Amino acid sequence: MSQARLLITIKEEECCSSGICALTAPDVFDQREEDGVVFLLDKDPEPSLHAEVKDAARRCPSLAIEVEEIPA
Ligand code: SF4
Repeated sequence: MSQARLLITIKEEECCSSGICALTAPDVFDQREEDGVVFLLDKDPEPSLHAEVKDAARRCPSLAIEVEEIPA
């Protein structure tokens, strides 16, 4: 059975290095060591991680994460 995928877009210039995304979805988001700016660990997370990825995007104080669901 095929399932929806997520298209995750990061706006590095908007990120204020709060770290909430990395705490919320640690398998998908991490922060650069030098300045704390977000980067993606997993560009195509499996469906079991989709809820936390969407949660991280909602919680980001800078609205630096966009998530689009691509229907299967
Ligand atoms: S939650 Fe938003 S502002 Fe904070 S590190 Fe992640 S992308 Fe950056």
